[in-house]
Amino acid sequence: MNNLFRCILVGAFFFVTCAETEGIECLKSAAFLAPLDSSAHRKYALDREVDVLHLALEVTPDFKQRTVEGKATLRFKPIARPVEELKLDAVDLEVHSVTATEKIQTYQVTDEKVIVTFAEPIPPDKEAAVTVTYHAEPRQGLYFRTPEMGYKEGDTHLFTQGEEIEARHWYPCFDSPNEKFTSEITCRVSEGMTVLSNGRLVSEEKDPVTGLVAVHWSQDKPHANYLITLVAGYFKKIEDKHNNIPLAFYTPPSEIHEAAGSFRDTKDIMAFFEQEIGVPYPWPKYDQVCVNDFVAGGMENTSCTTLTDSTLFTDATENIRDSEALVSHEMAHQWFGDLVTCKDWSDIWLNEGFATYYESLYDGHKNGRDSMLYELYQRARHITGLTNDTN
Ligand SMILES: [Zn+2]
Repeated sequence: MNNLFRCILVGAFFFVTCAETEGIECLKSAAFLAPLDSSAHRKYALDREVDVLHLALEVTPDFKQRTVEGKATLRFKPIARPVEELKLDAVDLEVHSVTATEKIQTYQVTDEKVIVTFAEPIPPDKEAAVTVTYHAEPRQGLYFRTPEMGYKEGDTHLFTQGEEIEARHWYPCFDSPNEKFTSEITCRVSEGMTVLSNGRLVSEEKDPVTGLVAVHWSQDKPHANYLITLVAGYFKKIEDKHNNIPLAFYTPPSEIHEAAGSFRDTKDIMAFFEQEIGVPYPWPKYDQVCVNDFVAGGMENTSCTTLTDSTLFTDATENIRDSEALVSHEMAHQWFGDLVTCKDWSDIWLNEGFATYYESLYDGHKNGRDSMLYELYQRARHITGLTNDTN
């Protein structure tokens, strides 16, 4: 059956898992099943004191030490009132320096924040920028897969996971979905490694001194912080195109022979969604990358989805397995969740509800109306059978 891992895991408190004979489903549903008088129904988006305009990240991973050296520059402007302090989410970051376009009086690094105090309040609408250089040994947010950890030598890689609030473990940020901004990432890796991220590839340049290759990606359309991704390491790919949108499917080199089956519906799904939704695919390319022991089934980072490599299958098993549901679900999120985003995590059902519904619509398109109706019936039974065990 195609009901593999369906949704990204969001923490034990907020989701319900249900192991079934035909697969495993993960639902981010408990928050909206909570009683109306509970605190889960009285959540609001975080206040924003500044409008974040742009994030530029420079990251150099050390695959042996499983650490990263980073430099994050946030461009912002105060919204309504003068801002004397900028508070950034940052967990377990070893901060080397903080500089800014404005004079800094002091800065403070706590377990969860970097707080920058300016000598003079920055007036509303005045653009400013803060740069933080740091070292991180992330326990969440950025995950290494290396031979020292038992993974295949030729498959060494790392991946990140932003949703819901993991990004703060590998760079300082405003880590809430009610803020959208453009972003760029430059990642320095050994020659022969692949670097993937959001948006379009700007450049790849080898440094003659260090021998490292700096790969620069840019996301020119604003998106939410949790959708920022970085995947780097040894990968192989297969490619296709939908109109002018390049499509690529990456796996660690030892698994590339299983890529074709999981990739095969991608083009058809994109064509169907564009027609059904009436809005063209909103990003400059669509990459899907399979990683070892992903933290969920799939994650819909803008233009660059991460998938569990356990979705891969060979010709010999295609009668009992496929990736259609996972691939269509994550692609539906490129519109529902990515282009249009919930303002607070208590509304995550909007992202998931639409993605799950469009996954069913594609099932109907490909396998017929009976298949879609049966899937909707199974979902309805599953949801109405859930009990609220969060209280
Ligand atoms: Zn989802």
